[in-house]
Amino acid sequence: MAGKYDSNNIFAKIIRGEIPSKKVYEDAKVLAFHDISHAAPIHVLVVPKGEYISFADFTSKAGAEEIVDFFRKVREIAESLGLSESGYRLITNNGSDASQTVPHFHVHILGGKKLSTHLNQS
Ligand code: 5GP
Repeated sequence: MAGKYDSNNIFAKIIRGEIPSKKVYEDAKVLAFHDISHAAPIHVLVVPKGEYISFADFTSKAGAEEIVDFFRKVREIAESLGLSESGYRLITNNGSDASQTVPHFHVHILGGKKLSTHLNQS
């Protein structure tokens, strides 16, 4: 997932409004929407609107303020989904071995049920 940002990836199209999504939150820098194939009762994707390929790309190229604001927004969105008391899991797949499928940095928010304790999914 290294290299040049592909501005035709599916999340870039969602950000530009070329593909519909079920939006949960949007501001000038961040968009959150329901995952099309949910892995938990609540499964929301949060993306920065900037052109970042992955977690590694985002945290190496974005400014400190943008990074902090993004992760604070992830927390606020999780809270707005009613997950603060029950809890939630954050996942970001970074690159090939993590099976990242969309080359635009995104964080998954998963919740709404007791999730598996197993992290060694293969
Ligand atoms: P990754 O495997 O890259 O971490 O996660 C990509 C996620 O994007 C997957 O969970 C997949 O279901 C979701 N996804 C792929 N295409 C679309 C789409 O067109 N709309 C939405 N809302 N989610 C998508």
